[in-house]
Amino acid sequence: MAKKIVVIGAGAWGGWTAFHLQMAGYEVTLIDQYGAGNALSGSGDLTRIIRMAYGGDKNYSALTARSFELWRKYSKEFNTQMIYDRKALWMFRGINPAYAEESVPLMSEMGFKLEELPIDVLKDQYPQVNFEDISRAYLEHDSAYLLASVSCQQVFRQFQLCGGAFVQEKVIELVWEGSEVSAVRLANGELVIADYFVLACGPWLKQLVPEVSEFIKVSRQEVYYFNVPETYHDLPIWVEFREGEEMFYGIPDHFRHGFKFAYDERTWLLDPDNDHRHITEEILEKMKGILSNRFPLLADPMVLRHHTCVYENSPDGDFIIDRVPEASNAIMMAGSSGHGFKMGPALGELITEHLMSSRPIPKAFSFDRFNNSFQVKTQYQLK
Ligand SMILES: Cc1cc2nc3c(=O)[nH]c(=O)nc-3n(C[C@H](O)[C@H](O)[C@H](O)COP(=O)(O)OP(=O)(O)OC[C@H]3O[C@@H](n4cnc5c(N)ncnc54)[C@H](O)[C@@H]3O)c2cc1C
Repeated sequence: MAKKIVVIGAGAWGGWTAFHLQMAGYEVTLIDQYGAGNALSGSGDLTRIIRMAYGGDKNYSALTARSFELWRKYSKEFNTQMIYDRKALWMFRGINPAYAEESVPLMSEMGFKLEELPIDVLKDQYPQVNFEDISRAYLEHDSAYLLASVSCQQVFRQFQLCGGAFVQEKVIELVWEGSEVSAVRLANGELVIADYFVLACGPWLKQLVPEVSEFIKVSRQEVYYFNVPETYHDLPIWVEFREGEEMFYGIPDHFRHGFKFAYDERTWLLDPDNDHRHITEEILEKMKGILSNRFPLLADPMVLRHHTCVYENSPDGDFIIDRVPEASNAIMMAGSSGHGFKMGPALGELITEHLMSSRPIPKAFSFDRFNNSFQVKTQYQLK
């Protein structure tokens, strides 16, 4: 059994993986250039959604169901609430709700509830929302939101309390001996030697594994927090699909940070180290238009807070969790494609059990799949 493990990246994936590995008895060194859940990474900012509706995909449904258990378990054990229950309203405007429809049977089999609600019922239940242009809607009963950066920092703290070592530095290269990685070289010139390596580098992975460059697109995702009247504070999480493959989502006000609102467009690319992160007027105007239509009291809401985040997109929206090409002792966790945060706990467990007892990693996450023909899509498009 490999004893010493280096994990590169203390985001949602690397942090949970380092924690599980350390708990399982490995001697883990976690390395991050900027720190756990930092603002430049994909795991920064305030919150993320955890929802079970996954269009009937068995891999993501199983990982998410397990993650629900682990978020709750470790919230208790860490004495820090990381998960907050909140129903989620899935709304479809002018398009077929196949994604929700396909989710229902598997969710119900797994003990989760997603029910279609007539628009008239929703109008009565949420009079502060405009449903005039919504054709179909579903309510997910067991969804929640998660603290983002704060959870990463909490997991990191627990990792250290279990004896895990941390180095704040940039890894600039993998050092090879034949088909094995023997060490990583840090920007300060030092080498960190280990038996096994986990690369959870998010948007920076291609700097260490150039083979993935062609398959990973890093996109700019702007998130806005609006000051809204109290009548909007208790709404469910809402997810809105529109014609033209547009998707918007929001999380109602929490801790007075404002009503979170984001546009799931992935065409604006971003260099995670060098590009500016300030407000893009075009995006803000688009969001205000959508908001004032859906929530009529929000004609020109004040921006309380703004964060530019990054998605690390694979071509088909599926994760890439596989061996680093040519390496017998290094694994990469990549392609989180804007939906990976929620599954951090279960993925950390998966990698640990993979190393300890060869638990298989779903074939759908293999890097090899791009050798064959594959469908370019986002995670919301059914296969
Ligand atoms: C706006 C937005 C909303 C989202 N909403 C959701 C949601 O509702 N639900 C959900 O499940 N997911 C959501 N996601 C996606 C989710 O947040 C990401 O999939 C997840 O956080 C990625 O985690 P990660 O650990 O893979 O990468 P990251 O968080 O980017 O972590 C990578 C880490 O590696 C470090 N690193 C990289 N290279 C090196 C190096 N060479 N040397 C040292 N350190 C290095 C970085 O500093 C960084 O800390 C959202 C993402 C965004 C941007």
